[in-house]
Amino acid sequence: MNIKCLTLGPLKTNCYIIEVDQGTIIIDPAYNADLIQKEIGNNKILTILITHYHFDHIGALKELETYYHVKAQDFKKIKNMIVIPTKGHSLDSLTFYFPQEKIMFCGDFLFKNTFGRTDLPGGNNKQMLDSLEKISKYPLDTVLYPGHGEKTTLSLELSNFPEYKDYLLK
Ligand SMILES: [Zn+2]
Repeated sequence: MNIKCLTLGPLKTNCYIIEVDQGTIIIDPAYNADLIQKEIGNNKILTILITHYHFDHIGALKELETYYHVKAQDFKKIKNMIVIPTKGHSLDSLTFYFPQEKIMFCGDFLFKNTFGRTDLPGGNNKQMLDSLEKISKYPLDTVLYPGHGEKTTLSLELSNFPEYKDYLLK
């Protein structure tokens, strides 16, 4: 899988452009529709994936849906992808998992060496704990591509989980 990351907008949100067998997918079209379009060129867009609908992840969504004539979250267009609900940062938080490549796009659920804020509307410590529990069952060498900052691995984050849990249980 070819993965390109554009970091866009004032909150430095990661927009990923990924190539799968059937075409191209945009994950979190944060801002700058023009820049995203330029990066994509003439490639065929299958759908646009949104990890969650916070404003800093969807700034260019409407424009790109119209431009490419696609619907967001059209999951059936993508083979070999599992959608994992990972609430805690927001009620609509999803993680997109590609098991063959062992890659996850996790939005603001997990970052390198930290987890997403739970103090925004829809955020919830208990749900974050449940999501950490859920994600810990996946292969340790899974690479996580978050909504902000650098990529990380599930094994690195699992080593942080005791600390995360302490914080969330307070
Ligand atoms: Zn967010």
